[in-house]
Parts: sequence; C-alpha cells; structure tokens
Amino acid sequence: MKVPKAGAVAAVIALAATASGCGGEAKKEPISVGIKFDQPGIGMREADGTFTGFDVDVATYVAKELGYKANEIEFKQVYSSDRELLIQYNEVKFVAASYTINDKRREKVDFAGPYFVAHQDLLVRADDNSITKAEDLNTKRLCSVTGSTSAENVRSKLAPKASVLELGGYSECLVALQDNLVDAMTTDNSILAGYAARKGNEGKFKLVGLNLSNENYGIGIKKGDSALQKKINAALSKMVSDGSWEAAVKKNFGQANYKYEPAPRVTAGG
Ligand code: GLU
Repeated sequence: MKVPKAGAVAAVIALAATASGCGGEAKKEPISVGIKFDQPGIGMREADGTFTGFDVDVATYVAKELGYKANEIEFKQVYSSDRELLIQYNEVKFVAASYTINDKRREKVDFAGPYFVAHQDLLVRADDNSITKAEDLNTKRLCSVTGSTSAENVRSKLAPKASVLELGGYSECLVALQDNLVDAMTTDNSILAGYAARKGNEGKFKLVGLNLSNENYGIGIKKGDSALQKKINAALSKMVSDGSWEAAVKKNFGQANYKYEPAPRVTAGG
C-alpha cells in the first residue's frame, strides 16, 4: 500500500471537517417528513417533482416553526399501512398524511393535532345512483386501502358482507373504479373530492355524500416525544390563528367543491 503524504492526509481531514460541519459553514440536515404522494389536494408528487396538497402546506408550516425552511424538508412517501413503522424506525420525523388519530395507532405512535376533520364517504362512477346508504354496500364490490380506517370501518361495522378489494393506495382504487372492477371506492371525503376534481377526471366520478365516520387528522410522531408534540401543537394553533390554515384549505380544496369542516381545536397531548 502506498503511504499518502502528510499534506494529502491533512487535506482529507480538512475536507471531512467541512463536510461534517465542523470548522466550516454548518450544513443543516434536512427534516424528513412523511406524506402521501398520490392524493390530489392532500399530498401529491406532481409530474415536475414538486409537492402539492393541504398536508404538504401543513407540513411545510410546521417544519418552518421547527426551524426548517421549505428547501430543508425532505418529503418521503408513506402508505396507509406503513406510517407507524416509518415513525417507529426514525425514517421520518413526522407524518402528515390524512392520518386519523385513533387508540390502536396510539399504541405505537403519538399524535399532535387534530388539524382537520374529514368523514368517510364513497366515490362512484358518475352515472351510478344505486348507493344511498351504508347497507347498500353489502351487495357491492368496494375498493379501499390496506391499513386505513376506511377499510377497517367497512369490515367491522359499515357493511361486513361487502366484498372489499384492498390495494396499496387510493390512486390504484381509482383505476379499479374507472375500469369497472369495483362499484365504489371508500375513504375520507377530503381524499375522494380531490380525485373527482383532478384534471382529466372531471365528470367521471361523484361523491355519494354519506357521512360514515369522523376522521380527525393528526401529525404522527415518535411515541413519547412530548417536546415535539408540544411544538407541533403550538405550530398548528398558530397556523389556524394567523389565517394560514384557512388559506391552505381554500387553495387545496377550493376547486373540489368540497364542504370542509372548520378547523378543530388542537387537543392532542393535553
Ligand atoms: N384517514 C384515514 C386513515 O388514516 C383514511 C385515509 C388514509 O388511508 O390515509 O386511515
């Protein structure tokens, strides 16, 4: 092996010191945030690589309050079924992904919030008038997403006899609905309204308008991190009081013709 000259070694050390932030300009690690990538109006990775949606705006506001600029956020894709896991394994600092606060999830993660209230509903093809109440679903083919409260609600209470196709994401359910493989897809009305309003989908689908559950969205964080929970709760309250919440809701749900609920009071964690 060739022994490097002392000068070369010093140069390597100097370089390493700059890269790690010692001595040179401190390079801040980005904050990683889990969002959905395929839910228009909520969490969406657009074709040009930018991110849009209400959860993106909420996450960006919260990150700013935690000391991170927009370009210091690394958005990571989460699915309904892996949100707890990604938080538990520190893959993300927090999750803002149409994430309903409930006790089962609270066994694994903590939540800040709530910051939004949605209701479970159904999306059908525009010419279908055959579903008017939850019981009608017992004879229908439904699509929902693995790990979601929507799939769980159908199985356990809304329509236990319905056939439910469970897929990894709602955009896959939309394809199944469009191709007549299922009669309806079910999840939060906030999500369904986004798909119905998406460019290219206009006039193809409609929401049935049933109010099948209350879904209180929270920001998922590591269990036991009460300091972070407090900071995020403060950020969410500030987002409401300074008008940014209302602006984000209007911007993201405006064209979806979606009657959203007013901002809930932040209560998680006391
Ligand atoms: N809000 C529901 C849930 O957290 C449905 C939406 C979703 O799957 O992200 O499961």
